[in-house]
Amino acid sequence: MTILELVQDLGCKTRRKAACHGGEYCSPCPFCKEGDDRFLIWPQRHNKNGEYQGGRFTCRVCDKHGDAITFLREIYGIGYREACIKLNVPFKEKSIKSIIQSHYKPKIILEPNELWTEKMELFVTWCNSKLLNHASTMDHVIKRGITFATIQHFKLGYNPGEYGCDIFREYKDFGLSPETKSDGKQRKFWLPRGIVIPTLSNGIPIKVKIRRSAWKAGDSFPKYVEVSGSKQIPSIFGDTSLPYAFIVESELDAILVQQEASDLVYCVALGGATKPLDAITDALLRTTPKILFCPDFDEAGAKAWMKWKKWFSNIERILTLFEKSAGDAYLTGMDLREWILNTLTRK
Ligand SMILES: [Zn+2]
Repeated sequence: MTILELVQDLGCKTRRKAACHGGEYCSPCPFCKEGDDRFLIWPQRHNKNGEYQGGRFTCRVCDKHGDAITFLREIYGIGYREACIKLNVPFKEKSIKSIIQSHYKPKIILEPNELWTEKMELFVTWCNSKLLNHASTMDHVIKRGITFATIQHFKLGYNPGEYGCDIFREYKDFGLSPETKSDGKQRKFWLPRGIVIPTLSNGIPIKVKIRRSAWKAGDSFPKYVEVSGSKQIPSIFGDTSLPYAFIVESELDAILVQQEASDLVYCVALGGATKPLDAITDALLRTTPKILFCPDFDEAGAKAWMKWKKWFSNIERILTLFEKSAGDAYLTGMDLREWILNTLTRK
């Protein structure tokens, strides 16, 4: 049996579209039921590893894809062995190596050291007062839709630097062991000028990010700098006892979503779509009934989604229409709260 016959068995009307990969067919999607040509079927196509398992399928709407075994398992809820028997293809025992590789183990991440916490608390407070007096940065933040109340609630700030330059200190001043650069010189503890975005836990900073005001396209240093010694975890904003988590990439987007919908969702900012998850955040998300995943609308975001949907079963992707991120969408007049509410009440 091939994937084509399996789809036809379900009563879906299939149509031959092209001759590529030994024949390409389309039909309505048996999973999401959308359209009549968004679901593509290649009954002769092999898997990437060269194995033939009844051909392959993909839905351009709901993103379901795989070979005929995946199809049978997902449609009928049967096991791997049973699916192989139905398709009349040989089944393989899973090797120990692949079991170990597929098991994903989040790590426990330590809190920042005491000296770091003490100094960063002062720094964050100082930068917060500087932001309120720095008209152009204040303007920039407000233009992104962030209100004065939000700035104060999340202790956003502006680091003006010193003597017109970024601030450099020694690692040991912050309780960190020194780092050596590739040229043999000691690395300096860097606090670039720019918008300071702290992640607080019980009001105390555990992670600080700075959006560099000196950043330019083509810059060899990043636009967002995570201050050394920050806790290496995604940033969590809002009430984690809520039944919905909203995952975005950028901290400022998460803060904006909190401003608009803190009664609906709590937010997790990954700070880069490809960063691994720590054990605490992992456990939190696993006990949250539903996760809305809103990666940036780009290739990295699409890749991140592929991973996340494997890790979590309680997850759904939520995409903005045309803009890259939730923050960009907000700027074009989209009502974030309504958009989230619609997603939560859909179906
Ligand atoms: Zn579909």
